[in-house]
Amino acid sequence: MSDQYTVKDPATQYPKATPEYQQQQPAPGLETAMHPKPDDGAETYHGSGRLTGRKAVVTGADSGIGRAVAIAFAREGADVLLAYMPEEEADAREVVKLVEDAGRKAVAMPGDLKDEQYCEQLIAAAVEQLGGIDILANIAGMQQFVPDIADLTTEQFDATFKTNVYSLFWLCKAAIKHMKPGSAIINTSSIQAYTPAPILLDYATTKAAINTFSKSLAQQVAEKGIRVNVVAPGPVWTPLQVSGGQPVEALKDFGAKTPLSRPGQPAEMAPAYVFLASQESSYISGETLNANGGMPTP
Ligand code: NAD
Ligand code: MG
Repeated sequence: MSDQYTVKDPATQYPKATPEYQQQQPAPGLETAMHPKPDDGAETYHGSGRLTGRKAVVTGADSGIGRAVAIAFAREGADVLLAYMPEEEADAREVVKLVEDAGRKAVAMPGDLKDEQYCEQLIAAAVEQLGGIDILANIAGMQQFVPDIADLTTEQFDATFKTNVYSLFWLCKAAIKHMKPGSAIINTSSIQAYTPAPILLDYATTKAAINTFSKSLAQQVAEKGIRVNVVAPGPVWTPLQVSGGQPVEALKDFGAKTPLSRPGQPAEMAPAYVFLASQESSYISGETLNANGGMPTP
């Protein structure tokens, strides 16, 4: 099992994609049904007290990047409210157990982030059940490829924007009211914000919006002592990609075009979120940390 502590060649730290990666599930997809299983860090992430006593809300916490972040946050000492969709209960149960095994409180709250009321309830639940909120990690996202604009429905365009952009607006708006100085918001963009794929018109556009939203908000809330940053992953092996995020035939080469010529794993994304959540990044706000296997970014 690979870990983040032993020095090794990052190009070979995890495997390249193979024909076995060509698999499909209905959206939102379950990590428990993927093969090979993504590395969520459960076997390897140690934690060293970097988020002791913090109270974190993590969206998309059941699977993929959000799951690895929820595990890492808990092992760094944070209590975690996990947001996910009701269909993802099987994945979420595993994460709840891992957070509790780390000796931290886990609050599970399934729902639909396209719903403003649910977003408000999530933050209210954190305040009531965790006793506050000082980390908001917005990691949930929707990605459904459509090759031709003629086939991209208003319903999908709307759903992608509601999930990826409006939910950020609603969650940040509700959370900031409760955040004390030292709190951190981390949003999730993508390499797609800068080099959009032709088949991801709606998704890529939302990711550029997330970068700009975050840069504006970071300046606005600096005087409250709240920092806002972004993690922009490259190709990472998660349920998103095998449930309509990519054409199935593209998955055998997933990540091959990055300089490291392999897909990233969720366990490799979590340390970026930990860093941006912790006080270690105290002079960093409005920044985007690109974790993409070495692809150049603006
Ligand atoms: P994932 O499928 O494991 O996580 C996405 C999560 O979003 C789901 O688990 C689900 O809980 C949540 N979600 C989606 N629609 C929702 C809704 N309407 N209501 C509530 N929750 C909803 O996949 P992932 O790749 O880990 O995605 C996490 C983030 O990383 C997303 O924002 C995605 O855009 C971003 N990202 C992923 C990649 C990649 O290659 N995997 C690359 C760049 C950016
Ligand atoms: Mg999921």
